[in-house]
Amino acid sequence: MIYLDHNATTPPAPEVLDAMGPVFVTAWANASSQHGPGQDAKRVLGAARATAARALGCKTSELIFTSGATEANHMALTGLLAAARAQGRQRLLIGAVEHSALLRLARSLTEQGVPVDFMPVSPDGRIDLTAAEALMGPDLALVSLMAANNETGALMPVTEVAAMAHAAGAAMHVDATQWIGKLPFAFADYPADAVSLSAHKFHGPKGAGALLLRQGRAFVPPVPGSQERGRRGGTENLPAIVGLAAALERLGDLASQAEHVAGLRDALESGLAELPGLHVWCQGVPRLPGTSYLRFGMVDADVVLQRLSRLNVAASSGAACSSGGSEPSHVLTAMGVPRDEALCAIRFSLGDETRAEDIALLLNSLPALIEPLLSVATES
Ligand code: PLP
Repeated sequence: MIYLDHNATTPPAPEVLDAMGPVFVTAWANASSQHGPGQDAKRVLGAARATAARALGCKTSELIFTSGATEANHMALTGLLAAARAQGRQRLLIGAVEHSALLRLARSLTEQGVPVDFMPVSPDGRIDLTAAEALMGPDLALVSLMAANNETGALMPVTEVAAMAHAAGAAMHVDATQWIGKLPFAFADYPADAVSLSAHKFHGPKGAGALLLRQGRAFVPPVPGSQERGRRGGTENLPAIVGLAAALERLGDLASQAEHVAGLRDALESGLAELPGLHVWCQGVPRLPGTSYLRFGMVDADVVLQRLSRLNVAASSGAACSSGGSEPSHVLTAMGVPRDEALCAIRFSLGDETRAEDIALLLNSLPALIEPLLSVATES
């Protein structure tokens, strides 16, 4: 199997499984209990927090463990908005191509009366900074922007948008789910007040993530409780937290890994370039190293995915959470891509364990599979 769907999820690393396994047996107690086993669990939790904080370049007090990035995003938006409301600020500004769960949350906040605006993207998939600037204002409570788009891989201008948000007196949240684990990151010198991440995007377990929250930033916990310094209630999922820490600890030199993965991605794109009608989105903009989002002429994505699975290649037609439906990607739609073109979108997302042989094999067999389809579905 050639797995090219790393933006959806990644296989857990052996080090992660080795670290998690014993926790179920030796540290199963409640880390809030005063007895011996509880105190053992508390020590394991503290050690995992220290490891994760070191890898993320944050203070241990800034790290709130969550069940993943969806929850971290939810906590950031609702917790920071509630805190800003006390200062008379209400409005939320988010990117138009955020993750679908964050967009759904924004819709539900709108229904609850929160004013929400969207920063549009240019046809190149990146936030239009002039339009973003025009949406800033003294009523703004919070700006939320993803660091990198999960479909196109486009890197967003976080530094510029954070500077605008802060100049307007608003807080800045970044959904860095697709960035962390693929590209270098340190919260200490990051321009945001809050950052979301998810362990399963970098070989950690599913159901484990974190919200990094800048020390001193006003925040009203959406799930009150005594854990996580009163910022997220609920007995800690210790095996998952230990797995998250182990996944962060094993990350190597991300800059050189990114260069290697981008080289394979570029080899894939140039190998496919001879196919008539090939179109790659966001090719000329800063992108995640392993992401290639493309269409083969006007061949429907579902047809291509079926052929790929016959080759034992796992890819995706866009955001995993919304695949299966026949609605075009909201990301491509926001970029102005027509519906019939968007329905042909295929995402290959390579990872650190993708091998040159995998790409060579794909390039050997793919053209023969695609060419007959191209002659049927001619460009309109
Ligand atoms: N944000 C982005 C940009 C993502 O790509 C994803 C996962 O696909 C999420 C959030 C949700 O992460 P999780 O699966 O940890 O809830």
